[in-house]
Parts: sequence; structure tokens; C-alpha cells
Amino acid sequence: MMPDVTRFAPSPTGLLHIGHAYAALFAAQAGQFLVRIEDIDTGRCRPEFETAIFEDLAWLGLSWPQPVRRQSRHFAEYRQALDRLSGQGLLYPCFCTRADIQREIAAAAGAPHGPDGPLYPGTCRKLSDAERGGRIAAGAPYALRLAMDLACTAAGPLSWHDAAQGEQRAVPEQFGDLVLARKDTPASYHLACTLDDAAQGVTLVTRGVDLFAATHVHRLLQALLGLPTPRYHHHKLLVDASGRKFSKRDRAPTLKALRESGKTPTDVRALAGF
Ligand code: GLU
Repeated sequence: MMPDVTRFAPSPTGLLHIGHAYAALFAAQAGQFLVRIEDIDTGRCRPEFETAIFEDLAWLGLSWPQPVRRQSRHFAEYRQALDRLSGQGLLYPCFCTRADIQREIAAAAGAPHGPDGPLYPGTCRKLSDAERGGRIAAGAPYALRLAMDLACTAAGPLSWHDAAQGEQRAVPEQFGDLVLARKDTPASYHLACTLDDAAQGVTLVTRGVDLFAATHVHRLLQALLGLPTPRYHHHKLLVDASGRKFSKRDRAPTLKALRESGKTPTDVRALAGF
């Protein structure tokens, strides 16, 4: 049997910590391991963090095929996918600022929440073609949103498989009208990740259980864009001694700091449970 193709897909917005080591080692032991740099958000990503990612992974004893895919080099492919969704009548421009959305939600008591927070109240869905055209022609910045109900109807019922939690019925509706692109980020995480997993022939997506809900959206995008559906294995998140998950924000011990304090790759693998 062919080994699964797996991937570790960090964003170079900081140094890797022990939680990342767990995710990378998990992917590497589950199949033929790829590294992908998710640097869509060019404002937050830094080349020095990318260099540090490769150093840390090599230090841990991992190796991966070259060249590494960098999302920032593939904006044209993401654009093509957006054009395809647009051609299916599933996207609309949204001119709302964050403040506009907050105001609208505050005014409508009891706005529904999804995995990423309150759902978009649909303000810009009501605009006429003439209004949209006028604002775009006037240079107003806009995001592209997926008309979720139309997208779900177009795709029909969908399911996906998680190695830990079994067969799942896809419920992307819980996200509402998601943003798939913005002026400053030409593809959302969901779009770029789904397209890249297909382009790289990933057969088993391993990632933290914190991204479990995202897979409902990825499954929908696969159906709309005619992409294959990999299998998934959402794994546990490493937690510290007090039971909190390690994160950049909480200054989890970075692999660099562990290395500089004299820990060996074997020590760090053991700390991560490998
Ligand atoms: N780039 C994402 C992160 O840093 C990972 C995305 C994924 O594995 O699908 O959390």
C-alpha cells in the first residue's frame, strides 16, 4: 500500500514551540511528510521565522521534499478558484468594515455565533448589482464572501472522515457567509489550504483538533471546486502542566529556547510524547 502523503503547514509568524513539534512529529510519523509555508498574511509573516522553522524541523531530525510550497507564490491559483466560485454565482462583494459588522450585530439582539464568532449579518448581500458596481468603480475596498446557503445547496449533502472521531456529516452552514478573500489577503486560510492540499496530493491531513470545525468548510470547497477529499486526523493539542494548550501568545517554550538551554532533539521529542 502507498504511504499517505501528510503535511505540516506552519505560518511563519513566530518561532515554533513544543506544540508545533508535536504536530510536525505527528504528521511525519503518519506518512510521507511535506512542509508547506502558509504565508498568505504577508503583513504578519517574516522570512526570519521561515528560516527558523526549517532549522528547528531539521534539528528535530525531520526531512521533507524540496521545493517547499509557499502560499505567497500561488495567488494566481487562488484567484482562479475565486473566479470559478464567482462564475457559479456563489460569491458576493462585502464592503463592511469590522466596525460596521459589530454595529449591525449589536443592533440585532441575539446574532447567531459560529466557530469563529458571530455570523456575518448579511448586510452586503442585499446590495443591488448597480450599488456593488458603483462602489467597486469608486475604489471601495471589499472582501469576497461565500453565499453559504447557495453553496450548500449547490454541493448537496457531504461527509468526511476523521481518524479519531469517525464519519462526519459536513455542516459548513455553522460558519455563515465566510470571507474567502480580502483586498490585503487575496485568499483566506480555508481557500488556500484546501487548494494546496489538493495541489500537493495530500491524502491524510493531520492537524490540531482546534481546526476540526474548519474541515467542514474545506469539504464544501472541495465539492464546489471539484477537488479530491483527503482523510483527516485531528489530533490532541499539547497542554502545559496546568492543562492549558501551548500557544505563541502564552510564550510556550520555543524549540530555539529549548535547544539553547541544552535540550537534545531526543529530549524535545520525548517532551512532545514521541
Ligand atoms: N497554518 C495553520 C497554522 O499555523 C495550519 C493549517 C493546517 O494545518 O491546516 O495553524
